[in-house]
Amino acid sequence: MIEETSYQAELRAAIEAVTASAALCREVQQAIGRGVLEKADRSPVTVADFGSQAIVCRTLAAHFPDDPVVGEEDGDVLRETGNEAIKSRVVEYVSSHVSGASEAEVLSWIDRGGDKAHGSRFWTLDPIDGTKGFLRNEQYAIALALIEDGEVQVAALCCPNLPVEEGDDRAGLVFAAVRGAGVEAHELDNKQTVAVSVSALADSSEARFCESVESGHSSHDDAAEVASGLGITQPSVRLDSQAKYAVVARGDADIYMRLPTRPGYVERIWDHAAGMLVIVEAGGKVTDIDGKPLDFTRGRGLENNRGVIATNGVLHDSVLRELRRIGVAAPANG
Ligand code: AMP
Ligand code: MG
Repeated sequence: MIEETSYQAELRAAIEAVTASAALCREVQQAIGRGVLEKADRSPVTVADFGSQAIVCRTLAAHFPDDPVVGEEDGDVLRETGNEAIKSRVVEYVSSHVSGASEAEVLSWIDRGGDKAHGSRFWTLDPIDGTKGFLRNEQYAIALALIEDGEVQVAALCCPNLPVEEGDDRAGLVFAAVRGAGVEAHELDNKQTVAVSVSALADSSEARFCESVESGHSSHDDAAEVASGLGITQPSVRLDSQAKYAVVARGDADIYMRLPTRPGYVERIWDHAAGMLVIVEAGGKVTDIDGKPLDFTRGRGLENNRGVIATNGVLHDSVLRELRRIGVAAPANG
């Protein structure tokens, strides 16, 4: 549960923003299901991406007009010749949620999320994290976080397709967290609040670990080697998006490994800021593969980090040790 906090207004706005966006994303997904939007060219996810960014930025602008938003999408793409059809789809979907919204307004909201600079206080947004999961009608997330002086202070992580409890038919949760004040999840459909807490598992051989579906985003081979070193016998749980942070935060899994697939890839802040705070407030731990805290002071990228490891806390050091043993992480003190 979240205690009384000085970030109450930010928390409310963030939850409102991702909840409104989820309604649009679900509508686009239903249109894919009915064959209204054709997914061969990825256009549905493009429509949902821009639509989601418009809705979230509009909501933030209403509550915090001076806050910059560093989002994944660049509105200029929609202004390019050849993208007129996509642009009208985006406007159509957004205006069905925000009655009377004009094309100019929709584009201006999307543009609000295009901040490249980063001041001392800004929001970061992934309007649809896990685009491949979105297209498969599996896991995806709308991830929003407030960063102040390099610290993630508020997070709203919406997972519209995540079962309310493991194995449940009902799906859709918003994980909300405030640094130092706690975390909770709200069911999208009835607003019921659910407690969120990491597992207490200490025996690594019993652990469940999760990783990306895409082997291009995280090395499955290295993760299998770490798992085998830890004595883990269960296969990994593969899911797209920051839903991985959510399942570790609520104890469905104990470890999330994101292991570099190539040297030089820099993780994007919007892929991790919200998920990280949710796990930390649920009692877990998040670092990079070398055990360093994620550094949000460097702009759009986690320039000072490599990969990500998130655990229930208890198992963290064992995972880092295995990463050093197999040579994926640098040796200690060296
Ligand atoms: P996931 O759904 O966990 O597989 O992660 C999706 C995110 O992976 C996208 O939002 C991209 O920003 C990010 N991504 C793209 N290429 C890479 C890469 N080579 N390594 C790690 N992450 C990547
Ligand atoms: Mg993403």
